[in-house]
Amino acid sequence: MKLDRRIASHLSMGRQAAHRAIAAGRVRVNGVRVTDGHCPVDRFTRVELDDAVIQAPERVLHLMMHKPVGILSATKDDEHRTVLDLIDDPDKHTLHIAGRLDRSTSGLVLLTNDGRWSKRLMTAEEKVPKVYLVETLDPISPAAVAAFAHGFYFHTEDITTLPAELVILDERQARLTLHEGRYHQVKRMFHRVGNRVVRLHRERIGTLVLPPDLPPGAWRELTHDEVDAAA
Ligand code: URA
Repeated sequence: MKLDRRIASHLSMGRQAAHRAIAAGRVRVNGVRVTDGHCPVDRFTRVELDDAVIQAPERVLHLMMHKPVGILSATKDDEHRTVLDLIDDPDKHTLHIAGRLDRSTSGLVLLTNDGRWSKRLMTAEEKVPKVYLVETLDPISPAAVAAFAHGFYFHTEDITTLPAELVILDERQARLTLHEGRYHQVKRMFHRVGNRVVRLHRERIGTLVLPPDLPPGAWRELTHDEVDAAA
C-alpha cells in the first residue's frame, strides 16, 4: 500500500488531504520524515503523523523448527497437536508454514508472517533443494538412483517429477534431494520403485540446515543473514 492511502484510510480523509499532510513534512515512516506519498508501506512499517502513531509495526517473524514425528504441519487442528502448539511466542497467531511435512515426518519446518519472503521461497522452489534422510522397509535397489533422476509420472497431478538426486547411504537408508514439493512426494517415489518409507526426516531447505543442537520440538528465530540468504 502507498503511504498516502494508508494515511487517508486511517484518518478518513481524502487522498489529497493526506498528500498535503505528507508534503508538509508531518509524517514519519520508520522514524524518518517522508514527503513522498507514494512511499510503500506494509504491516511491518511504523507510520506516525505529527506525534501520533497511526500504525504500529507488526514484528516480522522467521522461525525454523525441528518438527517431531506426530506433530501436524498446520496452524490449528481439533484432533492433533500442531507446530504452532510448540511455539510460545505472543505473535505466533500471525505465522504460516512455508513448506509442510507429513505428520509422520520429522525435521526442518519454516514458519513466518512474512508472506513476501515465503512466496519468494516457494516460487523459487526449483532452485531451493530440499534434502531428506530416508529409511526404507526393504533394501534400496541401485536402479532407484536412475529412476529418481529420470522422474516419475504422477497421474493424479498429470506431472512428471523433476530430476531428483538419490544417494544410497546404507542398505535401507538414503539421502534424497528434491527440487519441488509435491504431496507425499518422497513416499510416492519410493512406492514407485516397490519400496516403502518407514522414516523420513528433512535436513535442509535451500541454504537453511537443521542444526544438530535444535532438538525435536525446539525452534528458534532465523538470523538476518539466514533470512536474506534463503530467499
Ligand atoms: N515427502 C513426503 O512423502 N512426505 C513429507 O513429509 C515430505 C516429502
